[in-house]
Amino acid sequence: MTISTTSYTKDMDVDITKVLISREKIAKRVEELAAEISADLSNTKTDGELVLVPILTGSIIFVADLIRHLPHKIRIEVATVESYKGQTKKAKQAQIIGSLPRDVEGKRVLIVDDILDSGETIRLIRSELKKRNPMSINACVLLRKEIPSAMNTPCEYIGFDIPDVFVVGYGLDYQSYYRNLPDVCTIKVDET
Ligand code: 5GP
Ligand code: MG
Repeated sequence: MTISTTSYTKDMDVDITKVLISREKIAKRVEELAAEISADLSNTKTDGELVLVPILTGSIIFVADLIRHLPHKIRIEVATVESYKGQTKKAKQAQIIGSLPRDVEGKRVLIVDDILDSGETIRLIRSELKKRNPMSINACVLLRKEIPSAMNTPCEYIGFDIPDVFVVGYGLDYQSYYRNLPDVCTIKVDET
């Protein structure tokens, strides 16, 4: 299927079925989210450095755009959570790979992820970081699926609610491909 709004090459175009959220919409919403985060930071009386914890790899594009609209003194400390092996099928349990940022005591932490699905990733990272006594922990995702597991997971900043479909682009992959698509798209997937 050919997507008229984009200029993907044929090898990309072949699997993409629809642009779900355009790059223009994403850009606008990311700016709004940053403004919300920024306002909340400025409104809190307590002072504390902001530490962003982006979850690799899916959040790379989102966090890169988000931070350029956050005019604060921030640190970025990435974390890796494996919950899905590059397919559409979900693994049973989210697992932290490597170490989590240690120096978060007394700091304001903002977890950043691409998408909220089962909620396992956000719950796991939040509970692990909590043990390190930060001043506060909030979470921000670009996308949230309109399913109970996602809707029932506490998350303070949400870009878009989307139907329960598998999406790629803007950092999200299918078998490690398509992270570089500028739009969030649906894809033809092999469920076998
Ligand atoms: P959760 O832990 O909430 O189930 O899922 C979060 C992780 O699962 C995301 O960070 C992402 O890596 C992966 N994931 C969940 N749904 C999708 C999807 O529709 N597309 C892609 N590419 N990854 C997804
Ligand atoms: Mg992820």
